[in-house]
Amino acid sequence: MSATEGKTTRVFDKSKVTVIFVLGGPGAGKGTQCANLVNDFGFCHLSAGDLLRAEQNREGSEYGEMIRTYIKEGQIVPMEVTIKLLENAMKATVAESRSGEGWADGKGRFLIDGFPRKMDQAVKFDDEVCESSLVLFFTTTEEEMSKRLLKRGETSGREDDNEESIKKRFHVYKEQTMPVIEHYTKLHKVASIDATATIEEVHQKAKAVVEEVFSGQASGNVTA
Ligand code: UDP
Ligand code: MG
Repeated sequence: MSATEGKTTRVFDKSKVTVIFVLGGPGAGKGTQCANLVNDFGFCHLSAGDLLRAEQNREGSEYGEMIRTYIKEGQIVPMEVTIKLLENAMKATVAESRSGEGWADGKGRFLIDGFPRKMDQAVKFDDEVCESSLVLFFTTTEEEMSKRLLKRGETSGREDDNEESIKKRFHVYKEQTMPVIEHYTKLHKVASIDATATIEEVHQKAKAVVEEVFSGQASGNVTA
């Protein structure tokens, strides 16, 4: 038996649950575009960063301080924690909302935002939780991302939307997340979308790509 055949124990079957990863540098607009795609397609939107921040603030969490430190330093929280949070959130959606958000045509639909940011997370999630169908990859310049993050920092209250943390996040993005994009490019699963344009222009491109996934026409890497 091959290693792949041995892995019969994924939590969710790809034929019943569609997982689309959403990647791009910090400030590229992942969260904004995910909200638009939720409206279009009824996805359940799970932001790994938001789940980590919620866990950080959960009373009694044994991981709170650890998460705070990693986020401030722009580092990637050990994958076991993040994957467990995602898996639990997915299970809750599947159990509760078979007719509501995150469910359409008898199948689950998940947009997983800001994940996987590191190769170990990508491999473990695909092997053990659910094999992803597509990576939406939003690209723009570092200058633009930095501008957006500093603007967001005026009101976000996020401990990492400041110049020092932003620098660290860009570094980690290049060192650890770009290899993830290369990995999925080899698997022909990446749709690169230029996120420099207006929110609505970017939205229309992303929508067209996702439509292809659900109509069964998705074919290899695309650039929009
Ligand atoms: N993070 C992590 N693992 C993940 C996703 C996020 O450790 O899988 C941490 C990491 O420190 C990151 C921070 O959460 O810098 C903020 O992530 P988020 O996706 O919220 O930031 P965004 O890219 O949306 O600005
Ligand atoms: Mg975000």
